Amino acid sequence: MASAFQKQRDFLQRSARLGKIAHAYLFYGNESCGKEKLALEFIKLINCQTKNETACGSCRSCLDIEKNVSPDLFLIEPEEDEIKIAKIRELHSKLALRAYSAPYKAAVINRAHTLNAEAQSAFLKLLEEPKGQTLFVLLTEYPERLLPTILSRVERLRFYSGPTESANKDALGKIAADLSQLAKNDLSRRFAYAQKLAEKQEELPRILTLWMAYFREQLLKSVAGEKGEYSTAKLFKILNSLQTTALLLSTTNANPRLALEILMLEL
Ligand SMILES: [Zn+2]
Repeated sequence: MASAFQKQRDFLQRSARLGKIAHAYLFYGNESCGKEKLALEFIKLINCQTKNETACGSCRSCLDIEKNVSPDLFLIEPEEDEIKIAKIRELHSKLALRAYSAPYKAAVINRAHTLNAEAQSAFLKLLEEPKGQTLFVLLTEYPERLLPTILSRVERLRFYSGPTESANKDALGKIAADLSQLAKNDLSRRFAYAQKLAEKQEELPRILTLWMAYFREQLLKSVAGEKGEYSTAKLFKILNSLQTTALLLSTTNANPRLALEILMLEL
């Protein structure tokens, strides 16, 4: 089975070949090293002076990107776990200048979920006013922490690592069925379900992670305009609640049953 990384790499290479390059991409998933590597590889490819199927690695543009000295590439990282508006303003003024040499000016935002509220609004404005050939790549494990208006304006590429991908797919199918059944039940049945889950303490972190993966997919479909069982606002609420629950259970001796009951109220 081709890894998510290889699949997305093929997709991007094909896009470059066909000249169908989106203005902004979101690479999301738990494959942390793969996402950034591929973002840089893609930027190299579309800016490479040889215009081959893959980046040559030896032209001026490729070398500059490789050494991280390209005047047309901006890498943004959180400082103290936050990306503040000043960074986005700085990016804005840099993007307003003409590209030095490369066809594309590009910005890679690592751990994009750490963009704070102000920074997200400023970034949204950047996305809405395309200037020349500009490419944005957002990297994150937590796409649901981004504004729906940002999510709906980016091309989304999933990155989940290797063998868990297909196992997760089966598990996600089962979760979808369980949840759709659960949502139809009254509160007392949901609480009974919460109690049963709470007894599986060892499995709980894995279950919650899968639920998050499930609701994340629903959310991304929802912001893209696909109709599902839940509204976008509701999905944000559920994901928030799931994260709080997972955090509570991992960091404190919180009673899992209580945390799960609160979650059940949101479904
Ligand atoms: Zn090159």
